[in-house]
Amino acid sequence: MHEYLTAIGLETHAELSTDTKIFCNCKNRFGESPNTNVCPVCMGLPGALPTVNRTAVEYAVVMGHALNCKINLVSRFDRKNYLYPDLPKSYQISQSYVPICVDGWVDFWYNGEVRRVRIERIHIEEDAGKLIHNENSEEITFVDLNRCGVPLIEIVTKPDIRSPGEAAAYLKTIRSILTYLDICDCKMQEGSLRSDVNVSLNLPGEPLGVRCEMKNINSFSAVTRAAEYEIDRQRQILDSGGKIHQQTRRWDDLKRCSFLMRTKENADDYRYFPEPDIPPVEISIQRSEELKKSFGELANVKLIRYITKYRLNEKDAQYICSDPELASFFDRCVQSARFSPLDYSRRIMSELAKYLNDTNKSFEDTKLDVKRFNELMEEMDKGSISNSAFKKAFIALAETDLDVKKIINDLGLLQLADENELERIAERVLKENPKSGDDYKRGKTNALGYLMGQCMKISNGKANPVRMKEILLSHLAKK
Ligand code: ADP
Ligand code: MG
Ligand code: ZN
Repeated sequence: MHEYLTAIGLETHAELSTDTKIFCNCKNRFGESPNTNVCPVCMGLPGALPTVNRTAVEYAVVMGHALNCKINLVSRFDRKNYLYPDLPKSYQISQSYVPICVDGWVDFWYNGEVRRVRIERIHIEEDAGKLIHNENSEEITFVDLNRCGVPLIEIVTKPDIRSPGEAAAYLKTIRSILTYLDICDCKMQEGSLRSDVNVSLNLPGEPLGVRCEMKNINSFSAVTRAAEYEIDRQRQILDSGGKIHQQTRRWDDLKRCSFLMRTKENADDYRYFPEPDIPPVEISIQRSEELKKSFGELANVKLIRYITKYRLNEKDAQYICSDPELASFFDRCVQSARFSPLDYSRRIMSELAKYLNDTNKSFEDTKLDVKRFNELMEEMDKGSISNSAFKKAFIALAETDLDVKKIINDLGLLQLADENELERIAERVLKENPKSGDDYKRGKTNALGYLMGQCMKISNGKANPVRMKEILLSHLAKK
């Protein structure tokens, strides 16, 4: 038995949420009745001419920037020729030779470390139609061409992924980016985001092994299971002295196993050639830069920053990143630099997370702002309010515009720090509870707890507990 290393590469198809299809004016919509959302262009009738949807091109460029790619300001479409009933033209228009984005990378947090997966390319292509197999008769299959011409981008990684769990984490990152950029609805059950999973094994120090590819997997868990199964299958073959042959396999997620579809075709089989009906796609450097600036920091990048720079634990960092409004609040707190990032995240997790959970609200529904939050933290820091008072004041902060001093006053939360007043309370409590005082003197230390409790009670919970205890102890020592 050898210890193999695993290499996984993903080719992920994302349907772009443009209004219209990529080469015609048909609506880009899911769930219409079959073959109603079609025209001569997307049905591939002879003589029909495609024109490129500008929005689809710009979406691809935005994704390219999000994945740190170089943008090809001039890219080209090619024909990928193959015969299949869901492809009426008998070729798919895709980008083979000059894709729109190349040479990028994406970082994400996985298993306690930053992982970087290189992106080989992102290209634009059209989707094919859908085959619907008749449940009652194996001899009949229906064809629905509504999906023909739906714009896709295909995001192709280098084989940098090292485990099935990491493949799922990568894909989750891609989904979060597409969702944030609002360029794909990422409905995986509807097939808006589907991946081909390539897997190979090799021995340490040796080149990557021969890969097998599993097509069109459309859930995170299925990606994990398919990769695990394939690793196992290849390991068994290699351990028994066999060789891996490059194959395309179909993963059946219900049966939890894969089947041979075909031995791997290579590019020659598709007889790629430049699409003669579409001129080169151009985008100006200015427009590309504009698109680059059109989005803020991505959640995967933010998460890594919170964990590695601010030392937040993963769970807290995830929580804060999961809501862009909350993340922006946290960032503005950190920028104000009145307290440390950890101080802020602790308060956010102990008060805000609880409040949002209890009230079923999101951050956006609250009236929290950085200035008053800082002021409340400062009151706590000075010792003018207690921790439990902080919790009460925090709720008022979330629900009103009142200023911090007024909240503390109105709710009567100010800690009693007046020395004379604290002295009087200590004297009174000792006088009313002589037995507890004697007990304490005789070494019953828990009598102190009782006396402190009485002091807090008389002060309505407002006595500064640290000072109160000191004063009580000094009186006890005098007795
Ligand atoms: P094709 O276009 O013929 O499918 P590519 O070379 O473009 O082939 O690779 C497709 C995918 O397969 C990429 O995501 C790539 O990372 C992955 N891949 C390539 N070689 C290997 C390998 N040895 N093991 C695992 N994945 C691989
Ligand atoms: Mg492939
Ligand atoms: Zn059409």
